Amino acid sequence: MAAGLLKVHLSADAYLACLTHVLSAEKEEVMGVLLGELQEEIKTVLVRGVSVMRRIDKRADRVEISPEQLTAIVIDTERLSNKSGYPLRVVGWYHSHPHITVFPSHIDIKTQANYQLMDDNFVGLIFSCFNEEPQDKKCKLQVIAFQSLQTNPSPPEYERLELPLSIVQTPLSHISSLCMEALVQIPVVLFQEEEEAYTNTNPNENQDVVTQMYNSSVYTQSLTQMLDILCGPLLGLFQEAVARNKQMTEELTREKNQLLKDLVEQENNDVII
Ligand SMILES: [Zn+2]
Repeated sequence: MAAGLLKVHLSADAYLACLTHVLSAEKEEVMGVLLGELQEEIKTVLVRGVSVMRRIDKRADRVEISPEQLTAIVIDTERLSNKSGYPLRVVGWYHSHPHITVFPSHIDIKTQANYQLMDDNFVGLIFSCFNEEPQDKKCKLQVIAFQSLQTNPSPPEYERLELPLSIVQTPLSHISSLCMEALVQIPVVLFQEEEEAYTNTNPNENQDVVTQMYNSSVYTQSLTQMLDILCGPLLGLFQEAVARNKQMTEELTREKNQLLKDLVEQENNDVII
């Protein structure tokens, strides 16, 4: 399949999970993998969900997936596939560009090229967030789908190839269990990262009390900030989803009862005839 002809369809609930993740960290990049299907007949990668990655190296401009993480995700994808009822596989990766342009860096293009060596239909998404417009100082959110195109075989040189990207509506604004799991996973992963960072400050007898107090206050501040900007809104979203599901269950139950009633009447009429 020619790489340039690939289209990317991102389901609305997977888009929601990506946005929640990329907007959860303003200082460093976050990343995850895209789960979905390759629809070869229409040359489209359909992204149905995501898996949030724990960052190995928390730097402003660097994200990477370790081979161990990738293996764990591939194994977990089988479980998610059984749970969701879709033949899922890892179809790509996404990461954020806080405060910078949406376009992939040279490192991103090289990383993407390496993924394409394993799977030439592998796609990348980048979300640029917290990026202020110079004219009106308003934060803009942009997303791009891309692959790497080899322009020179030796030494290998690559350039970005933008792919058409569409957000695909999910029926009845439904959030799939796959995306719900990713949304729940976001604070879990971020809390683990904070805990690990705090543990690495290694409070020991050589550390003076002021440093210890400073480190623990930074840790507390990070956790409270996360509760405020991430967990609170997520809880609201889940409560809304529960209310919507309850309403839908009531409507469907009414419809089912009416259909059963119609069926009984129909059967009675048939007996009379
Ligand atoms: Zn990047």
